[in-house]
Amino acid sequence: MAGLQVQGLEAGYDRLQVLHGIDVDVAPGELVAVIGANGAGKSTLLRAVSGLLRPRAGRVLLNGEDITTASAERIAARGLAHVPENRLVFPSLTVDDNLSLGGWTRRKDGHRAERRRQVLELFPRLADRICLPAGALSGGEQQMLAMARALMAGPSVMVLDEPSLGLAPRVVGEIITTLGRLRDDQNLAVLLVEQNVRAAFRVADRVLVMDRGRVVAEGTPDQLADDERVRAAYLGGGSTSSGSVDRPAAEARPAKATATP
Ligand code: ATP
Repeated sequence: MAGLQVQGLEAGYDRLQVLHGIDVDVAPGELVAVIGANGAGKSTLLRAVSGLLRPRAGRVLLNGEDITTASAERIAARGLAHVPENRLVFPSLTVDDNLSLGGWTRRKDGHRAERRRQVLELFPRLADRICLPAGALSGGEQQMLAMARALMAGPSVMVLDEPSLGLAPRVVGEIITTLGRLRDDQNLAVLLVEQNVRAAFRVADRVLVMDRGRVVAEGTPDQLADDERVRAAYLGGGSTSSGSVDRPAAEARPAKATATP
């Protein structure tokens, strides 16, 4: 089966068990957002999926292939791109060199050049800054570079850890719109971890709410907009204050996934 399947995933650090049996499916052309309060285990989920942390139990399938115990390099080469929190671009290297590093799995120069052209079309701001050191870019541009670098490898599945972190609302909007395009135009399966619930709801087909290492709610943004558990995640955990999540209708697309109760 194409895309990403996570089944009964358990992972942690030393004696700390963080994930307690996580199930997530992301199909090609689908964007699934994972939200939850600080410490819920969202980043740990992405690390365990992309091979940066060895799962303790459960399975991860990438386009039908079991990658649960594969190395991060092998998982990347098989088509899963991880855009980590805080961008992690190489600040002293140019934008172009950062992109080249992302294309290392593309052995043929012709493929790399074509991919570079597509990626710069998607992020025209990077094309204008191609010779600048990455450290000279704004936070939003560095986030775009991190995404562009990940795309250079031609992934079929992309997982992103809080791409909106610390960015102005307008830039967050641009990034979210680009993610929607990647899903729609390139048929990518996207797993997006976000604390910015409003941004996540704007683009997601389905949303998973995590709390203390478990998925406690799942559904379309419309189904979850007034859910108490979403409010708790939105407000940083535990609170039941009023206030639902706005979902600007113009930016949403019809959901094709169904919710699980
Ligand atoms: P945040 O949004 O704050 O990043 P999160 O939902 O992504 O939260 P994780 O970063 O996955 O949560 O952290 C889950 C738990 O694992 C937390 O209790 C955290 O302290 C712990 N943790 C995370 N990374 C490590 C690590 N490298 N070593 C030990 N414990 C860790």
